Amino acid sequence: PGAGSDVSAIKSVARKDGGDYVISGQKMWITNSLQADWMCMLVNTSDGPAHKNKSLVMVRMRENGKLVKGIEVAQKIRKIGMNSSDTGLIYFDEVRVPQSNRIGQEGAGFIYQMQQFQEERLWCAASTLESLSNCIAWTVEWAQERKLFGASLADQQWVQFKLAELKTEVESLRALTYLACERYIAGEDVTEWATMAKLKAGRLNRTVPDTCLQFWGGMGFTWENKVSRMYRDGRLASIGGGADEVMLGILAKTMGIAKRPVK
Ligand SMILES: Cc1cc2nc3c(=O)[nH]c(=O)nc-3n(C[C@H](O)[C@H](O)[C@H](O)COP(=O)(O)OP(=O)(O)OC[C@H]3O[C@@H](n4cnc5c(N)ncnc54)[C@H](O)[C@@H]3O)c2cc1C
Repeated sequence: PGAGSDVSAIKSVARKDGGDYVISGQKMWITNSLQADWMCMLVNTSDGPAHKNKSLVMVRMRENGKLVKGIEVAQKIRKIGMNSSDTGLIYFDEVRVPQSNRIGQEGAGFIYQMQQFQEERLWCAASTLESLSNCIAWTVEWAQERKLFGASLADQQWVQFKLAELKTEVESLRALTYLACERYIAGEDVTEWATMAKLKAGRLNRTVPDTCLQFWGGMGFTWENKVSRMYRDGRLASIGGGADEVMLGILAKTMGIAKRPVK
């Protein structure tokens, strides 16, 4: 808690004891933490500079369904969406993990995490394409069914143009995402492309469900409506895996506008 966008500010500590790490601290916003048997944890393994003192460690959370000694899942967080996915706050009190559970080199965890974010951000963009397309398709279907003022809602040019605009945006995101994936598979550094795709996915997960929901009228304001669920669930895309502003900051660096250019 308290780190979030500022990943280097995490406070959890792993001290060495014999062949083990002994981990103490807290983790907030952990997806699947109410059921996971294992977690991949970024933790401070030394006192050095914030970008060089962290390691990624595989931590066993549960054995035979029971939490490992020293781990407490303190809270299931109540969220406005993504309710099929549990999210928790976890405490670690002197949790023993073999040092052999460390991934890669000690002290390189921050860099590994930044590299992993490229995949997570590509996933975020890719996984959103179908749901955004569905949202538009459901709304087209609804607008064709809904009769008012002697015609269907879909006969209103305003509705046609808005939906056409959204589809163009979603297909632009698809093209950007596919390009980023092709370059990633070819072994290129896709930081800039993955960041742009994540940013655009976040933006569209807000504008597409919001615009579509409007065309559903009161039906769109009901809990069971698929578009209203997307309106709530999709809001996370601008926050999780790095907020929109963090994406803009990375892009400003890759463009050379911000002070510390990304190498
Ligand atoms: C449902 C859910 C599931 C999650 N699952 C996981 C998980 O499994 N594992 C994990 O490690 N994390 C997980 N997260 C954490 C997620 O990565 C963070 O919520 C996210 O990085 C933002 O951090 P924060 O919430 O602390 O917001 P903060 O860091 O407090 O940021 C708040 C807001 O400040 C603004 N902001 C931040 N930085 C800047 C900047 N440089 N310039 C301008 N404005 C800025 C943005 O608008 C941002 O939304 C999850 C979060 C949620 C909500």
